[in-house]
Amino acid sequence: MKGCAEQAHEHREELIELDRVIGDSDHGENVDRGFRAVVEKLEADAPASIVDVLKLTAKTLMSTVGGASGPLLGTAFLRAAKSVGGEALDGAGAAALIEAALEGITTRGKAQEGEKTMVDAWAPAARAAREQADAGAGVADVLRAAANAAAEGAEATIPLVATKGRASYLGERSAGHKDPGAASTALFIAAAAAAAAAAVKEG
Ligand code: ADP
Ligand code: MG
Repeated sequence: MKGCAEQAHEHREELIELDRVIGDSDHGENVDRGFRAVVEKLEADAPASIVDVLKLTAKTLMSTVGGASGPLLGTAFLRAAKSVGGEALDGAGAAALIEAALEGITTRGKAQEGEKTMVDAWAPAARAAREQADAGAGVADVLRAAANAAAEGAEATIPLVATKGRASYLGERSAGHKDPGAASTALFIAAAAAAAAAAVKEG
């Protein structure tokens, strides 16, 4: 979550700019505010388990992010919390977590792949994570594959015409620009991958 907050803060202006072109310029601000609040909450409450960390993250994102992305990310983390079975996350657990997050987003937002939303990053991430996990990969490799797929998915939103969310008001004019929610998703999953790689290295 600290990594997500750092990424949101570092890429704040870039996400604002993406949302300025096809939305209302607030996505960078929304996720920066949201994940900063998450880190503050986690430091204050210091939840001990993965499940409680994810639940507190969900609750905080829902109440601080606002916009369309707040409830979507909140639901993603809530479903992710429900997917976690134990006190440690292995490769299969990480894949299940991303799949659960995606399911939360599609249940809540009703977008399918190809509609130029964050689903276009989460869905390929979930597929790549599952493929790696099924091949026996550990958590760091699963998340690295997911992060790469999310980044590719975000890039692939550029030519798409938005049919969900605020960008859909632009119709054909939404084509030619990257979706801000897909872009931030790639940053968040990359942060998770970096954290997992660091944890594995530490042993
Ligand atoms: P708002 O659109 O309310 O200003 P944000 O700017 O924070 O909220 O978030 C915009 C992002 O939310 C979009 O780039 C898109 O990725 C995502 N989004 C919007 N609607 C949906 C939806 N129905 N399903 C999935 N993602 C969505
Ligand atoms: Mg916006």
